[in-house]
Amino acid sequence: MPNVLVVGAQWGDEGKGRVVDHLAARASYAVRFGGGANAGHTLVVNGQKTVLHLIPAGALNPNCRGLIGNGCVADPEALLVEIDQLRAAGVAYGPDRLGISGRVHVVTAFHRAFDRAEGAAIGTTGRGIGPCYTDKAARRGLRLMDVLDGVHRPVLEAQRAVVTALHPEVELPSVDAVAADLEARLHSLAPYVVDVPSELEAAMRADAQVLFEGAQGAGLDVDHGTYPFVTSSHTTAGGVTNGVGVYVELHRRIGVAKAYSTRVGHGPFPTELHDEIGDLLRKNGQEYGSTTGRPRRCGWLDLPALREAVRLSGLTELVVTKLDVLAGLPELQVATSHSKAGPNYRTYPGFGDVSSVRDFSALPAAAQTYLHDLAAGAATPISIVTVGAEREALMTLGPRQ
Ligand code: IMP
Ligand code: MG
Repeated sequence: MPNVLVVGAQWGDEGKGRVVDHLAARASYAVRFGGGANAGHTLVVNGQKTVLHLIPAGALNPNCRGLIGNGCVADPEALLVEIDQLRAAGVAYGPDRLGISGRVHVVTAFHRAFDRAEGAAIGTTGRGIGPCYTDKAARRGLRLMDVLDGVHRPVLEAQRAVVTALHPEVELPSVDAVAADLEARLHSLAPYVVDVPSELEAAMRADAQVLFEGAQGAGLDVDHGTYPFVTSSHTTAGGVTNGVGVYVELHRRIGVAKAYSTRVGHGPFPTELHDEIGDLLRKNGQEYGSTTGRPRRCGWLDLPALREAVRLSGLTELVVTKLDVLAGLPELQVATSHSKAGPNYRTYPGFGDVSSVRDFSALPAAAQTYLHDLAAGAATPISIVTVGAEREALMTLGPRQ
């Protein structure tokens, strides 16, 4: 079976979660390779909304096992809350449905405090992601396996000392308190810790269908995004092999893009709309962060940015989400290039309600033209178009889905 990559082609929140949920119906594994609980993947099934942060979005498909690779960071408290929420919603979720690499770095209370003290400059999610990856690179990080081995106390002392030195004004819990809390939570998480590379290698040898689920989007990649307004992990295809610990040949590489653009947090956004059209996109698209609740910045589709995402991950397909949100706008614009003066736009006629359409040929001609030009402009075919939050609100183009 082909290995399938699903990544964000913009600045996150493109709808990767529901795309993974759709593809997971036929997959044996959904695997996260980077990021942490900064992500927010919203799934709507039978009117019931589930927001996942670190747990792979295949979670609602009973035959799809989730794996969290070493490239991720995990906040044990947030992860246990997520597991409990799934159970409360009636999903029989447990170690048979999720495995976590022991090499995953642990987000501690010190990381969260540090992120709250410094992250505002970037507009981070405040989940301690950057400080955790900082400590990983600085070799004073703490992996799940280190806590299980009981060697975490001196590491926690070093982490606390760093935050105290840089931010003496910040009140921090004691090392004793953080250690005790971690030990208790790791006790609950221990049954989930597995050898992810070996399990994946065996699965791929057995020709299982494996989905690799990106978090955030190309524009937020620590190397290739709009640095320094980025997250601290690799959000593109390059992150997969490193983030799971076994070489992965990615056969289908799916980039998910909204039919317009959004960004949450600071950083460049050339096609941003500061007018009532931006407000309308935010309202109709319910563009508020699923992790932080912040209003998202909204704007037109940016083709050059999309082409960059195609290049970074070698995308073979695009999924275009939220086409329904554009309905009713008198005209639409798409940035086709950028100059010093700003984006150069191509204007398209608007179209009406598309939310009940399930077949590309039944879309209004203007919507078909818009999508056709999007695919041509990105030199990548579109395989799925979504027109609503519900699981079924989509149409597939071509034979493979
Ligand atoms: P961090 O990942 O919390 O450090 O935040 C760094 C930047 O990435 C900020 O602009 C965040 O808003 C953005 N970011 C992180 N995760 C997501 C996501 O899942 N969706 C959208 N933006 C995100
Ligand atoms: Mg999100």
